[in-house]
Amino acid sequence: MEPVWERPPGREAAADRGVDAVPTVARLLDEARASVPLSEARLLLRHVLGVTHAALEAHPEREVSPRETADFHTLAMRRAAGEPIAYLTGHREFYGLEFHVTPAVLIPREETELLVEIAVEKPARRILDLGTGSGCLAIAVARELPRAQVTAVDVSAAALDVARENAARHGATVRFVQGDWFAPLGGERFDLILANPPYVAEADPHLAQGDVRFEPRGALAAGPDGLDDIRRIVAAAAAHLVAGGRLVFEHGYDQAQAVAALLAQAGFVAIEQRRDLAGIPRVTGGARP
Ligand code: GLN
Repeated sequence: MEPVWERPPGREAAADRGVDAVPTVARLLDEARASVPLSEARLLLRHVLGVTHAALEAHPEREVSPRETADFHTLAMRRAAGEPIAYLTGHREFYGLEFHVTPAVLIPREETELLVEIAVEKPARRILDLGTGSGCLAIAVARELPRAQVTAVDVSAAALDVARENAARHGATVRFVQGDWFAPLGGERFDLILANPPYVAEADPHLAQGDVRFEPRGALAAGPDGLDDIRRIVAAAAAHLVAGGRLVFEHGYDQAQAVAALLAQAGFVAIEQRRDLAGIPRVTGGARP
């Protein structure tokens, strides 16, 4: 056993002070539980230490440096104040891929994977993703359909920076274009148009709650009934689809009837709706005759 007087002086002093001893993984997680759920504290500590879940679990006795401890405390405080985990760690998984995210982009949601599944079922050649944000939809589709030509539009230059970085990270070939929905595309036509547009009603209290508070408002809210952008997209889509081409988009939990009517009014046929994992009709599509 190591005699106490042979310890490095700094460590000895710290050990003697008890609570100021070099913190370990186990102790930091235990302390953080007062302010954040354990599962979240684990994610944040993994991010700070740059280790896998398995490594964190296997070595609860691992010592954490003062710098890492300070970083972890800052993140745990920010999380306790409501900031989304994805913005604190800078990434979120979507369709089995890790995406870089910043507050310039919507945090990818599981239900949006439905759009990827639909695109993969009937592979189209020219595919457009409107309002790409982090690029998660366009990039997942481009990776699943390597023969497709994928174009992705966003109005936000900051979002496109994030999306380009994600495409590079995943080796996906996507053409990114900045502009307001179809505006930058001239007379181009596509076989499939996908979109996860903003669709929340402006007065929806949900916008002031949880993670959503920190996300870009422009990616979420769309007028008094949440349908402003969907109306614009549906109205302009036919001019950018080949005959038989499809428009498929995500919408709010209570908008299925309204969006099906909008598509029918705009002359779309073969209107189809899909439910998300929670059983909510979440995606609607139609074809240009
Ligand atoms: N589903 C998201 C939410 O309710 C909204 C995403 C969107 O507007 N496209 O928070």
